[in-house]
Amino acid sequence: MSRGGKVGRSSRTRAINARYTTNICTKRLERAARVRVIESDSTALLSRQSAHSFVREFDYTINPYGGCALACAYCYVPSILHGRAEALGGWGNYVEVRVNAPAVLRRQRHKLIGRSFFCASATDPWQPVERRYEITRRLLAILGEVPFRFGLFSTRSPLVCRDFDLLRILADRIEVGISVPTDREDIRRIFEPRNPPVRARLDAAAALRNAGIPVRLHVSPALPASANFPRIAGDVADWVWLDWPAHFRADWVALYRAHGLEEWLGRAKVEQEAARWRAVLGSERVRTGRPGFIGRGALTDDGGLSLLEQPRA
Ligand code: SF4
Repeated sequence: MSRGGKVGRSSRTRAINARYTTNICTKRLERAARVRVIESDSTALLSRQSAHSFVREFDYTINPYGGCALACAYCYVPSILHGRAEALGGWGNYVEVRVNAPAVLRRQRHKLIGRSFFCASATDPWQPVERRYEITRRLLAILGEVPFRFGLFSTRSPLVCRDFDLLRILADRIEVGISVPTDREDIRRIFEPRNPPVRARLDAAAALRNAGIPVRLHVSPALPASANFPRIAGDVADWVWLDWPAHFRADWVALYRAHGLEEWLGRAKVEQEAARWRAVLGSERVRTGRPGFIGRGALTDDGGLSLLEQPRA
């Protein structure tokens, strides 16, 4: 750690950081920066997964923030917050910064020994506020000292590339999932107006992979895409995961309907889309639905997790 509690970075990492953060300094994310930022003294960080959790193959979820400034129209998280998002101004309008999270992880890190985790199930760990607070970066530094079994990080922000140095240290037991539900900017603007552009996310995936970090693409929820998307995705990621919505909010469904996209709410359309992807990438590199999410950390006979080698393109 360097002065001020920041985790040190090499000049090479800073150069990469500058390149990728420039991409996301768009007007959309400047708007996102006006969301209410609440510094929270919450000591919640590691959440044990129940038998009904979507990510129940993982032992824990880790959420460095509460709320999310990226405000994707299809986000399922506000559906499971029991009114908390509305009480804080509505989903997408606030971010709770768990300023104690690094101290909490340091105290509780023993729980992760030999275990698996998913970061994050209810926020984006590299959303814009992370540039200022570096909560996720500080968690990564601590995780580097913990012999956990498998960790999956999920983001749609190219800011993840700022942390190449720390992710590389963990590369033999993690994957980074980059969320890209479509490669069409017109579709992205409907559902993800505050998200980084598609190209910036694909570039981030490629950069991570080139740095030796296992990368999957989260095409979730799958949306209409170009004919070339499977090939483009195959060039930047080890494998891809496609999924369909599991929660439905009235405003979300209305948005799909307003654009004539109702069929994309159902499994049948996404499985049909997955068949197109498999024809390009092969079955080994395309997985679907909840059982496919675990990916590289597949279940073993004794119910534990093992690291499976993913085919490299
Ligand atoms: S980035 Fe993830 S947590 Fe944030 S709004 Fe989008 S889907 Fe929800």
